[in-house]
Amino acid sequence: MKTMWAPWRMEYILSEKQDACVFCEALSENDDLTLYAGNATMVMMNKYPYINGHLLVAPVKHLSGLDQLEKHEMGELLATVEKSVGILKQVMNPDGFNVGLNLGKVAGAGVEEHLHFHIVPRWFGDTNALTVFADVRVIPEHLKTTYDNLKPQFDTLNLNTKN
Ligand SMILES: [Zn+2]
Repeated sequence: MKTMWAPWRMEYILSEKQDACVFCEALSENDDLTLYAGNATMVMMNKYPYINGHLLVAPVKHLSGLDQLEKHEMGELLATVEKSVGILKQVMNPDGFNVGLNLGKVAGAGVEEHLHFHIVPRWFGDTNALTVFADVRVIPEHLKTTYDNLKPQFDTLNLNTKN
């Protein structure tokens, strides 16, 4: 991915790393970033997005490797990625997506102990458009608006696999 100018990332880089896992914490309390919480998978807004609509899809289980997932969890994880891409398409109409896993700190994983997919919607010319969002203070509002737009769609999801 090209380097995009995302100044609010500094807030993340400079903020003290917490001991608690953001995914497990989000599941245990009713936060305003979690879009979906199923039996095996969850979807969260990235609090420090590279771009508006940047989502994180994770297994509910706190684990770091794909090889630690049960087969049905693997299937549900991919299904959750697919549904999330579908909802972003419907609500935000992007031109494309970057979808990926960062495994290990060296690969850029911010939270390496809890496996998660990144879904980053992309629009033609978005590297230029990002300068519009340069003011750090406006980001929470973007997050909230995006959350409110996406939440009703995720509320209709039911991916829980029977096993
Ligand atoms: Zn965790």
